[in-house]
Amino acid sequence: MYRLKNAGYQSYLVGGGVRDLLLGREPKDFDVATDATPEQVKEVFRNCRLIGRRFRLAHVHFGRDIIEVATFRSMQDESKGDRETENGMLVRDNIYGTIEEDALRRDFTINALYYNIDDFSVVDYAGGLEDLRAGTLRLLGDPETRYREDPVRMLRAVRFAAKLGFIINPACEKPLLELGSLLQSVPAARLFEEVLKLFMAGVALETFEKLRHYGLFGELFPQTEESLSHEDHEFPITFVNRGLKNTDIRISEGKPVTPAFLFAVLLWEPVRLLAKRLRDAGESPLQAMQEAGTEVLMDQLNQVSIPKRFSIPMREIWSLQHRFEQRAGKRPHRLLTHPRFRAAYDFLLLRAESGEADQELAEWWTRFQETEGEERSQLIRQAAGAGDKPRRRRRRRRRSSKPADSE
Ligand code: ATP
Ligand code: MG
Repeated sequence: MYRLKNAGYQSYLVGGGVRDLLLGREPKDFDVATDATPEQVKEVFRNCRLIGRRFRLAHVHFGRDIIEVATFRSMQDESKGDRETENGMLVRDNIYGTIEEDALRRDFTINALYYNIDDFSVVDYAGGLEDLRAGTLRLLGDPETRYREDPVRMLRAVRFAAKLGFIINPACEKPLLELGSLLQSVPAARLFEEVLKLFMAGVALETFEKLRHYGLFGELFPQTEESLSHEDHEFPITFVNRGLKNTDIRISEGKPVTPAFLFAVLLWEPVRLLAKRLRDAGESPLQAMQEAGTEVLMDQLNQVSIPKRFSIPMREIWSLQHRFEQRAGKRPHRLLTHPRFRAAYDFLLLRAESGEADQELAEWWTRFQETEGEERSQLIRQAAGAGDKPRRRRRRRRRSSKPADSE
């Protein structure tokens, strides 16, 4: 901000950074607003990249951190510039304006506060400070119009409500129940980014419940929503709930969470049901799982894209599940060295906790990892004695027909 100021531009800290600091929370990232155009910002910083088409902005890199620097924008229609709407939805929004105009085109009042480095004051054009004190989420302007302009704002409303424990003001809450289908017009790649923000901020469970409440979850994960509403026993909802809670606990403990695991959890129910149908129709367990994985993923990509670097490990987590049942001979040892073993084992634990997988099997694998040498061999003999024989027969059949059971 000082660098911009020294170059003769205005600059303010804005958005989540100001909001979270005022709430005594640690900001996730910092956003800067300036009257310099993206090109001018690039001239000031060597470590700067311009990104975005719909919404052009400058990313200034500081080591591993990125500061988003956005030029003041205007909503005024008569101003010149680059703006385009399709059916009320903003597909490009690059008309520059003043700071007052910039404040009014932001989403929520609490996100429209500007911290001024000149006199260390907070500039509030929209009543954000009062809403911040009251714990209210309020869109600027007419809620329905603002959601139509950018349906992602519906997801942001739910996300901030869950994360900050704020109440969505009634006029902004009502359209959430009515306009969910507008999310279908949002590019799947953008929804991927939003899904990560929704479920990887440490309040995934609460966010999930709120999204379902407003009927928005089904717009993002229709197959999962379908399987949840048709539940014939209580596994599915318990499984997703536990999986998300697990994610929240890991985040609160500072442990890493991978999107691959998250998506594996979110899509497991439809995958499991389809795999079961395919098995009942005569396919081998591995074949059924792989086919179900492919099919569910392909469908899901219509809503929310999942980059290959996450979808490949996600599918491995699924495909490894049936291998936990093969506890004879060298197989358990081999499975242990699989790069995705840990994630797949965590996944098995979740399944067992929610009653969908065998608790005894999960415990066996826990012990198998804790022991060594002779004790391990003993566990393997135990498993064989405890009725793994029918599985062994099935496995032999599969082995002859399925060369892909390797990797
Ligand atoms: P966090 O970074 O903690 O998720 P944030 O409020 O900073 O929350 P960002 O996505 O970083 O969210 O956006 C920065 C600011 O840009 C927001 O605070 C808001 O003022 C504005 N903004 C972001 N997305 C939108 C949108 N879809 N419509 C209008 N304004 C937006
Ligand atoms: Mg931010």
